[in-house]
Amino acid sequence: MGGAVGRLSRRLNRRRGGSGGRSAPGRQVRDPEEEAILLSIDEYRSRLLASIETLPARRISLDDTWGCVLAEDVVAPADLPGFTSSAMDGYAVRSADVASPPAELRVTGEVRMGQSFDGAVGAGEAIVVPTGGVVPHGADAVVPVELCDRHGDRVVVLRAVPSGKHIRPAGEDAGAGDVLVRAGRRLDAPDVGALAAAGLGAASVIPRARVGVVSTGDELVRPGNPLRDAQIYDANATILAACVRDAGGIPVDGGIGRDDAGALVDALDRIADDVDAFVCSGGVSAGERDPVKRAFEATGTMTFANVAMQPGRPQAFGSHRGKPVIALPGNPVSVFVSFVVFAYPALMKLMGRDESYPDVVATLEAAIEAPKTRTRYARVRLRRDGDRLVAAPEGGHQSNLLATFARADGLAIIPAGATMAAGESCRVLPVRDLP
Ligand code: AMP
Ligand code: MG
Repeated sequence: MGGAVGRLSRRLNRRRGGSGGRSAPGRQVRDPEEEAILLSIDEYRSRLLASIETLPARRISLDDTWGCVLAEDVVAPADLPGFTSSAMDGYAVRSADVASPPAELRVTGEVRMGQSFDGAVGAGEAIVVPTGGVVPHGADAVVPVELCDRHGDRVVVLRAVPSGKHIRPAGEDAGAGDVLVRAGRRLDAPDVGALAAAGLGAASVIPRARVGVVSTGDELVRPGNPLRDAQIYDANATILAACVRDAGGIPVDGGIGRDDAGALVDALDRIADDVDAFVCSGGVSAGERDPVKRAFEATGTMTFANVAMQPGRPQAFGSHRGKPVIALPGNPVSVFVSFVVFAYPALMKLMGRDESYPDVVATLEAAIEAPKTRTRYARVRLRRDGDRLVAAPEGGHQSNLLATFARADGLAIIPAGATMAAGESCRVLPVRDLP
């Protein structure tokens, strides 16, 4: 996603449920081909979100608060700015002295940056003052240096300045006790800037979620290592770490859990103290050795469901050691789609944000069909045509084809049972910056 979400979510309307299919009829539907009960995307997502609690607020160093939701109103501890200063490099004067220019004044001193100033401007006098320097007593205006001619200890002011000109009063930005940033605001650069300017070294925020990423499968090898017959590289851990980062979370590498219930629980336990939630991939289907199913089927701490979507049908969520677990299917494209549709809003909720993955509207260049009972997230390429986006189908539907996916720019949401025709407007979840 390469930061696409962060940028998009600033520009787009956000609404929970925005990345799901709308047309899933009711809560459940029977898939005639598969003889399985399918839960609608919205229903599954709302059950998952209901199980997630926002992380408790923590006071952390200001430097780490960017991107986090502020947990309480922050008030200015003192006037901002704290003293009356000059807005220009020039001369602090009494405005009455320069009312009929040219006016010659005696230069009696110089204000230095970062230093207090004891002297005062008397009648017929001027004091050199830099931008941001303290305005000396007695002065009620600053004449910019460009409007003056300096001759030794004399300065000729060429233009009159009204009282108050080029002076920045103390407390102009905020008074002591004024709210600088309200609780609930996701802190952007100007917000953290305001807190820094007020001298606050820490703030109480909902912290970034630390998300343990665990892959499952006996066939998996970490990239960078040699592959034997019948093995494949673990792409999901890398995808999920990228997705977690893009969502503003912090991925924690939980490694590969082998296809064994105990091994999976061990993998989760190893990182349990370091994470706020787990996202794992693979092993949620009904296969003999599917470890998520095996480990948690009997504990009652996980909900398993078939969701009316393609890809991404088998899903599970629950908790382990008091931390939410979001278990996604194994195919890499399914992983990405399920992350966007389910894990993304769940992480948002953990971090105090009521947001779903941002979407855009694009015009389809060719028809795309969805299965009867499942919303299709179809890979599309996006291009700009005037002021509209055009989406062209890209690659097949197989959810193991990652190179194909890497050629796509987004996922077009085709409601279950629908064939969307060329020329129709379609919601698309961008997977990278828009063209
Ligand atoms: P599973 O859900 O475990 O049955 O896996 C479904 C498919 O996804 C299988 O073909 C797996 O090999 C593949 N798969 C599972 N985990 C990963 C992974 N981490 N990286 C790439 N492919 C995976
Ligand atoms: Mg597996």
